[in-house]
Amino acid sequence: MGYMNVVVCVKQIPDPAAPSSLEPGTHTLNRSGKLILDDSDSYGVEMALQLADAAGGGEVTLVSMAPNNETSGLRTALAMGAAKAILISDDTLKGSDALGTAKVLAAAIRRAAPDLVLTATESTDGYTGTTPVQVAELLGFPSVTFAKSVAVEGSTVKVQRQTEAGYDEVECPLPAVVTVTAGVVEPRYPSFKGIMAAKSKPVDTLTVADLGIDPGQVGAAGARQEITDVADAEARAAGEIVVDEGDGAERIVGFLEGLKLI
Ligand SMILES: Cc1cc2nc3c(=O)[nH]c(=O)nc-3n(C[C@H](O)[C@H](O)[C@H](O)COP(=O)(O)OP(=O)(O)OC[C@H]3O[C@@H](n4cnc5c(N)ncnc54)[C@H](O)[C@@H]3O)c2cc1C
Repeated sequence: MGYMNVVVCVKQIPDPAAPSSLEPGTHTLNRSGKLILDDSDSYGVEMALQLADAAGGGEVTLVSMAPNNETSGLRTALAMGAAKAILISDDTLKGSDALGTAKVLAAAIRRAAPDLVLTATESTDGYTGTTPVQVAELLGFPSVTFAKSVAVEGSTVKVQRQTEAGYDEVECPLPAVVTVTAGVVEPRYPSFKGIMAAKSKPVDTLTVADLGIDPGQVGAAGARQEITDVADAEARAAGEIVVDEGDGAERIVGFLEGLKLI
């Protein structure tokens, strides 16, 4: 292709290793602390860098919607080698559902005029897995989901699409949205040089007004998805301990027969 402009959607999420909490009224995840790059999105970043390399030149632009002007996760992806980022952060986006998020992402992506848009198949914290295809629909781009391999030839993207039985070979014209699985590439670790360079890479921070979006269409005002209730996962029942009094084997066989496992 010669030059490829790839956009990667990266979600910045609360650190899954840290204790998390839900907002009392809305039952949504408390996102007020530091956010990090969703590990699922590091595969898209790596794939984009490799595709730009393979094209013989190009640029990887990150797009993220996150509260409080959060850039920590973006810096990680910039340290991997992305050139720049667009961050949409705005108090009116509080309470956004997946479609509202897709509207914001699509408007920001349109500005970057990409040849290809990469996302993960689903995020780690909320995972509706619906945002990428909504973004594609809003942009009027075709979408191919669950890619385990992505190659670009001319103005066509060739994807091996993971299925339960194996994979499908799918081709579609660019520009397109492709969702990638964790099997697509091995993400690189940011180098020290990359981390230092990332500090001065441009992050264009935009508001809803900057994107020309009607505030009533996004955030809590536009959300049609609502979390009505949250319940604790059922605690695992304690297993049955069989003390072998000479009949241990028979009792285990009887137990497995009772479950129709043997
Ligand atoms: C009721 C409700 C309230 C919410 N309130 C807020 C809030 O107040 N503030 C807030 O910031 N978020 C909020 N969110 C979360 C936010 O809107 C999510 O980004 C959106 O719901 C999509 O998340 P998902 O996990 O379903 O994405 P999925 O569809 O599972 O994600 C798939 C891929 O899409 C891309 N993607 C998804 N979301 C983003 C994103 N935000 N930026 C860049 N790429 C993305 C990534 O590549 C990701 O791997 C809320 C969500 C809900 C349902």
